[in-house]
Amino acid sequence: MSAMLINGVELSKTIRSKVSLKTQELKNKGITPGLAVIIVGENPASQVYVRNKVKACEEVGFFSSLDKYSSDISESELLVHIEKLNLNPKIHGILVQLPLPEHINSSRVIEAIDPSKDVDGFHISSAGALVKGIPGFWPCTPFGCIKMLESINYDLKGKHAVVIGRSHIVGKPMALMLLDKNATVTICHSATVNLKAITLQADVIVAAVGKINILTKDMVKPGAVVLDVGMNRDSQGKLCGDVDFEGVSEIASYITPVPGGVGPMTITMLLQNTLDSAEKNSN
Ligand code: NAP
Repeated sequence: MSAMLINGVELSKTIRSKVSLKTQELKNKGITPGLAVIIVGENPASQVYVRNKVKACEEVGFFSSLDKYSSDISESELLVHIEKLNLNPKIHGILVQLPLPEHINSSRVIEAIDPSKDVDGFHISSAGALVKGIPGFWPCTPFGCIKMLESINYDLKGKHAVVIGRSHIVGKPMALMLLDKNATVTICHSATVNLKAITLQADVIVAAVGKINILTKDMVKPGAVVLDVGMNRDSQGKLCGDVDFEGVSEIASYITPVPGGVGPMTITMLLQNTLDSAEKNSN
């Protein structure tokens, strides 16, 4: 293998220890960063995600609450709860675990969060701030990708970055962040014609599709940096990304593994956003 690994576990440890130190400083001033996590229903994957988020909060010294609702909660009841959290001074970040049951309008729920507590970065105000290039909460997964590039001192200015995927939570904000860092950005999606012709031009590729081996060795320019956001299960049930890791590792300069790459960075950036929110509150 010639590519260097960008290790999300190690980078997360480094960032989380800085978050812990800053948290202690804030606590000394009488402010404990607080994150409220809301989960509706019994989706097993969501249960694991929220448990991990709450555990991560405890590890860095945050206050956290986990509010579990049964899947038959009405949208209006959920909105009342969010309003209470909006007004609660102990809470600096509010996270609603998605997906929500079908009878609840997710957009209405996310837009009900006070934008100053939108640490997931999914509120329309946060999205608007990102589009305009003004300060705001950046969605955690693409924000984690930017931190990974920073960790290898990668200067995006003038580089061609190709993002595969255009979801609201990963692909689109990823593209905007790369643009913010002065890359020339191309976004690919399911209607893109000849993906390979585009990825072969890329200095940086972010794969965020959810399909095994969407990016193979023959699609990558030698020396490119490859970030794999995908989380899939192979035929043996093993966690894997969107990138053919073995093949692409032979040709890329840097690559993120799955597991142990972008995944751990997502919760880390959630902690960072919550800390930033609490710090703003202390000023
Ligand atoms: P999503 O909402 O399903 O979006 C997938 C995107 O991929 C869509 O924009 C789709 O295009 C595009 N796409 C589908 N087939 C394609 C193809 N053949 N060629 C090019 N583009 C194609 O998924 P998501 O929420 O963005 O998540 C993407 C992956 O990242 C998933 O595996 C998810 O589990 C993972 N993920 C990981 C983390 C983490 O913490 N590591 C966080 C979030 C998501 P259209 O828009 O045209 O349909």
